[in-house]
Amino acid sequence: MIQKPKGMRDFLPEEVEHIRQLEDRFIHLSQLYGFREIRYPMFEKTELFERGVGETTDIVTKEMFRVISAANLEKYKAGEYDLRKEGLTLRPEGTASVMRSFIENKLYARAMPMKLSYMGSNFRNERPQAGRFREFTQFGVETLGSDDAFCDAEIIALAVDVILQSGVPQIDTLINSVGCPVCRPKFHDALRTFLADKVEHLCGDCQSRFEKNPLRIIDCKVPADQQRIKGHPVMIDYLCEECDQHFRSLQHYLDGLGVAYEIDPNIVRGLDYYVKTAFEIKHDKLGAQSSICGGGRYDGLVQNLGGPDIPGVGFGMGMDRLLMAADLYRPTAETPERQGSYLIGFGETAKLILVDLLAKLRRAGQTVELEVNQRSMKAAMKQADRMNARYAVIVGEDELAQNKIAVRDLSSSTQQLMTVAEFLHRVEE
Ligand SMILES: [Zn+2]
Ligand SMILES: [Zn+2]
Repeated sequence: MIQKPKGMRDFLPEEVEHIRQLEDRFIHLSQLYGFREIRYPMFEKTELFERGVGETTDIVTKEMFRVISAANLEKYKAGEYDLRKEGLTLRPEGTASVMRSFIENKLYARAMPMKLSYMGSNFRNERPQAGRFREFTQFGVETLGSDDAFCDAEIIALAVDVILQSGVPQIDTLINSVGCPVCRPKFHDALRTFLADKVEHLCGDCQSRFEKNPLRIIDCKVPADQQRIKGHPVMIDYLCEECDQHFRSLQHYLDGLGVAYEIDPNIVRGLDYYVKTAFEIKHDKLGAQSSICGGGRYDGLVQNLGGPDIPGVGFGMGMDRLLMAADLYRPTAETPERQGSYLIGFGETAKLILVDLLAKLRRAGQTVELEVNQRSMKAAMKQADRMNARYAVIVGEDELAQNKIAVRDLSSSTQQLMTVAEFLHRVEE
C-alpha cells in the first residue's frame, strides 16, 4: 500500500465542504472590499524566493521543495545544470509570486492602487506538527501603489471580517510599526546597547541576529531568551515624524472602521523591506500555533524584485488555522431538511423508465440518485433514508402494469401512486 508523503494531507468530502465555505467567504468578502483574484504558477524560479522571501530566512535555506524534471536531473548529475541559476521551486508563500506577476505583466501601468487577492497551496519542508503541514493553503491580499495608512487599515478590517464571519469569536488584533530605513538605525543602536551584555546568554540564532538584524531577537521563540530581553526598547518609541504620523493615522482609520485592536511592540517582521505597519491576528485557543493571519507594509519589495518603486501592503492568512479555529465553534450539525429523490427500479424496463425520470429531474435542477446495487426493497428504503432523500420513487411489476410510479414521501411517511408527469409537477412546486 502506497501512503501519502509525510506532512501531506487528504481532504475527505465532509472536510472539503467546510473548506469551500471558507474559500467562498474569503472570495466574497475580498470582492466586497474591491480586491480581484490573481492566480500564478505552482512553481517559480528559485531566485524569485531567494530575493522575495530573503536568502537568509529558514524558508529559503531549509524549507523549500525544489522541482526538477527527470531530464534535468540527469544533466545535474553530469554537472551540466546550474541549480542556482535555472533551479525551480514549489512556491513556499504567495507574496513573491504576486509581485513577480505584477511586475512581469506591467500591472503598475494600470490605475493605482491595484488590489489583488490570491488563494492556493504553498509548500514548506517543515517538521510536521499539530496545525502545521508541508502543503498548506494560504489566503492573501496585496494593495499596491499607495502608501496611505487607510490601505493598511482596510486590509486589517478585511482579515478581521473573514475570521469573525467564519464563526471565530474573540480574536486579538495586534498592531505595531516597525519604522522605516530613516528611523530604524537609531532603534537598532538602542537595541544593541540594551542587548550588549545579554547577547552571550541568548540562543545561537539570536547571537547571529545581533549584528545583522537585532529586531528579530524580539521575535525569538525561545522562552528563556524572552525572559532575558524583558524591558527591551521598542520601535514605536523611535519612530520618525513620518512613521509616527502613519501609525497614528492607521489607528484613527481602524477606529473609524470599527476594528478593535491592541498595540503590541513585539510584532516584528524580519525583512528589510518591511516598513511601518506590522500586524498579526491571533486566537488564544489555538495553542502554540495561535496566529491566524499576519501582514504588513513592504514599500521596498516591488523594487527589490526588479520593478518600479511602488509601495504595498498585504496579509497572508493560514487557512488551516482558520479552519481549526472555526471547528472549535461549529455548532453540532442539525439534520438538514430532506431533499431530492432516490429512484428504485426492479427489472430493466422499470430501470429505464427511472433513467428517463432521472434525466428530467437533473435538468430541472433536482438532486436525484438511482439505485444501482440490486438492493432488496427493504435495503433500498434504508439507503434512501441514509441519503436523506425526500422522495423514494419505486417502480416494480405492479407499477409497470398500471403505468405509474410509487412515490413515498419520507418526511411524512406517506406513499402514493402517480404518473411521472404528476411527480415532476410536485417536485417543481
Ligand atoms: Zn521612519
Ligand atoms: Zn533566541
